[in-house]
Amino acid sequence: MVVDSNTWRQVFDRDRGYCRYCGVDLLLTFSAYCSADVDHIIARSVGGSDDVANLVLACRGCNSSLSRSAHLKTFEERKSHVEAQRAKGWPSYAKLLEAHRKGFGLQSNSTVETDARNSGARDSP
Ligand SMILES: [Zn+2]
Repeated sequence: MVVDSNTWRQVFDRDRGYCRYCGVDLLLTFSAYCSADVDHIIARSVGGSDDVANLVLACRGCNSSLSRSAHLKTFEERKSHVEAQRAKGWPSYAKLLEAHRKGFGLQSNSTVETDARNSGARDSP
């Protein structure tokens, strides 16, 4: 759900650019940054507000998996839902990266910009 840019920025900064559900670094690439969403813990459709206390930073994948989950009204319930979806076979980012590298004919250990994250340039959440 879209919020105004000031609110989006407040949530992004508070959550330090990490998806609160899966922990993916949304500053990893420009594409990841552009796909960063804000999730309403209590959906607007059931009375949730745009107050930052009701919002968490979410990657596109996590936010999409929560799109029909207005009945989940706490962060913990929503996080459990995301984790359950992943347990059903939602591939990890590392597996997706590996699969795409193979598809592109790259070696699995080839260097990509994700290595910047492993250099300690950013603190973990
Ligand atoms: Zn996520």
